[in-house]
Parts: sequence; C-alpha cells; structure tokens
Amino acid sequence: MISENLHRIKNALPAGVKLIAVSKKKSKKDILAAYQEGQVDFGENYVQELVEKQEALPKDIHWHFIGHLQSNKVKYLAPFVHMIHGVDSFKLLKEINKQAKKVDRKISVLLQVHIAKEDSKFGFSDEELEEMITKKNLDELKHISIRGLMGMATNSSNEDLVRSEFKSLSELYYKYRSHEALQHHSFTELSMGMTQDYPLAIDNGSTMVRIGSAIFGSRK
Ligand SMILES: *Cc1c(COP(=O)(O)O)cnc(C)c1O
Repeated sequence: MISENLHRIKNALPAGVKLIAVSKKKSKKDILAAYQEGQVDFGENYVQELVEKQEALPKDIHWHFIGHLQSNKVKYLAPFVHMIHGVDSFKLLKEINKQAKKVDRKISVLLQVHIAKEDSKFGFSDEELEEMITKKNLDELKHISIRGLMGMATNSSNEDLVRSEFKSLSELYYKYRSHEALQHHSFTELSMGMTQDYPLAIDNGSTMVRIGSAIFGSRK
C-alpha cells in the first residue's frame, strides 16, 4: 500500500514541489518501505522519536523536523537534522545557530507563520515576522540558513477559507523573498499543504508538501 500511495502522490505533484513523507507515529518498517521506493525526505514531530529512528535507519535519509521545537531539545537534533520547519521565535533561531556551531554544521530552517483561525497552531504573526526580519541582525547567524516560510491552514472543509490562508502565506513569502535582510539565506522554500489540503497549497505556490496519512494510512 505504501508503495502505491507514494507513487500516486509523487506522480501528481508538479515538478519543483518536494514531497516530505510525514512518518510520525509510524514504524521504522513503514519508513523503510517508502525509502526503498526512493523516498529520501521524511518529516517527524517528536524529538525523542526522531532521534531513535535516525539512529536505526539509513544515514542518507533527510530528516525534517516539523513539530513544535523547544529550545532545550535543539541539541539532540543539531548533529543530523536536515531542516527545521517550525521556527517561531528569535530565541529558537539563536539556539539552533549555537548548537549548529558546536557541531560545525549549517542548519536549514523555515519560519512558521500563524495563518489559521485556530489558536492551537504556532507561529509568528505578520507583525512579529516583519519585526524579526527587519529589526534583528540575521546576518550574524552564520550557522543557520533561513530557507523560507512554513504554515498550516485551518483544519476545515471550507475550501475558500483554506485557500485564502495559503494565499496570505504565499504573499508573505513573495514579499520577503528578495528582502535584503535575507540575501545570505537562500530564501526559496514555501512549506505548506498536508493530506487534506495539499492540492490547494500547490495552487498557491507551495514548494514543499508534508504528507502523512495519504502515504502511511491514518494514525491512531
Ligand atoms: C502531522 C503533520 C503533517 C501531516 O499530516 P497528514 O494529515 O497526515 O498529511 C503535516 N505537517 C505537520 C506540521 C504535521 O504535524
């Protein structure tokens, strides 16, 4: 099943849109099944679960951390993580920079923006994002690369609502893409879209979709 699901989704994605297979709460066996079909990028939400899987699975997997990350846990991911999608404070950015320096790496991150109606989702407001990009010295963070933005739409079957949220995120992305404060950061990625809304995200310019249940089946 995993193999068929993966190929069906991959074949439907436009060129230039990367698939992150979200494997949280799924077994190493399931991950290997997708890996053997050529899938390299996997997304996880929990630090301890990710560390355990990383140790046991092939070392050329690209691990994306897509959950909410606490500063005191960054050190566990710094040695291997490929990209951190949910950065929502300057404090966290500085901690990632510090831990990346310790292991002599440069870590790619995305800034999470709060676009949904729900309070439960994390992320910068438009004003906080503006403040951080324009007022903080991002050039001094030599061990991180701010690669773009990430967001989650409201969990709703109202397509107009979801579409308007993705559109607002993509407008922010285009606004900052050529901002001089980000010139040294290769700001080229827009991570949005999951199982239930990825076609709408792609219509609105997504470059990375994070898909779990449509590949691995629903989670308990
Ligand atoms: C779980 C999760 C996903 C994948 O969700 P599905 O509905 O299973 O595709 C994507 N992004 C984030 C941030 C998640 O936590």
